[in-house]
Amino acid sequence: MISRKQLKDVTRIVIKLGTGVITNSDKHPDLPRMVHLASQVNELRRMGKEVVIVSSGAVAAGRHVLGFKSKPTELADLQACAAVGQCSLMSIYQKLFSIYQINIAQVLLTHDDLEDHDRYLNVRSTLQSLIQNQIVPIINENDTVSVEELKFGDNDRLSALVASLLPADLLILLTTIDGLMQDFGQPTQKLIPNVEKIDDTIRVLASGTRSDTAVGGMKTKIMAAEISTRSCIPMLIADGRKRDILPQLIQGEEIGTLFQPDDDFLPGRKRWIAFCHYPKGSLIVDQGAHEAIVQRGKSLLFPGVRAVHGDFSEGDVVSIKDERNREFARGMVEISSTKLKLNEPPAEEVIHRNNLVLL
Ligand code: GLU
Repeated sequence: MISRKQLKDVTRIVIKLGTGVITNSDKHPDLPRMVHLASQVNELRRMGKEVVIVSSGAVAAGRHVLGFKSKPTELADLQACAAVGQCSLMSIYQKLFSIYQINIAQVLLTHDDLEDHDRYLNVRSTLQSLIQNQIVPIINENDTVSVEELKFGDNDRLSALVASLLPADLLILLTTIDGLMQDFGQPTQKLIPNVEKIDDTIRVLASGTRSDTAVGGMKTKIMAAEISTRSCIPMLIADGRKRDILPQLIQGEEIGTLFQPDDDFLPGRKRWIAFCHYPKGSLIVDQGAHEAIVQRGKSLLFPGVRAVHGDFSEGDVVSIKDERNREFARGMVEISSTKLKLNEPPAEEVIHRNNLVLL
């Protein structure tokens, strides 16, 4: 458990700026608000904090130039808007941060950059080098080249993956709502200030977004919280349009929703297996294998596999499901789907326990 007061002791902070936070009611970049955000980042740095930003807003910043009155729906149009908008966004950030003599760097990532372990480590080294050189990295998905099936999908997830990879001490998602709400949209609506454990009662509170610019709404924020808290990183959701929100959060004021780090957190390599892959297939396992994995922390052995779905090669990450088709773990296989389907046993285990993660 981390108390609000302890937040002032964190050093490395990943801050995600949602599109709604940095655009105005005409859906153009909101320059006064962006200046105020840059000044808050400056204040955090003067408090000795290291700041990494994940900024959305490229599609919104580009769409007016291409003449779209609302957010386009075609992938190619979205990608064109992002290509145009990313330039203007970075040029705005550069001007605003230079007021505070802060140098910034653009980092554009695709899902494959994190799925491949060498590239994952390279991203980490680059970000660490930028931080050591007092530069504020400003990260976004490389929307222009990301194909639909291989996208991070949303910047909530991307920011949680970046926090997990660095690792950071705190993740802050700045959005246009005060935090996670009980009874959202009802007269009884109430902010939940603290979430100790993400379970179904919390997941059910998340609903998709209706805004024209936002991508994920509360649902993707809860998914980001699952990645962050299982990486032992507390996460805050707060309204980024409020004045001085960042220093107030760091000074421990009871604003927004704080998600507590999970006691059952995962070490670095297991985080990479669990969060940086879209499983290439799945293995249905019998009751005995399920118990051995969940209760005794064992490897998955060949006799426990009941069915094999999808096409995967040795070294790919797959889902592990129980006989009722519920995913309970993920792991990196030692054998291809072709061999498994031919009933050819592996030399040793199907998935070694070091490469197996309980979800
Ligand atoms: N990468 C998108 C953009 O810059 C935003 C994705 C998101 O907000 O989740 O417009």
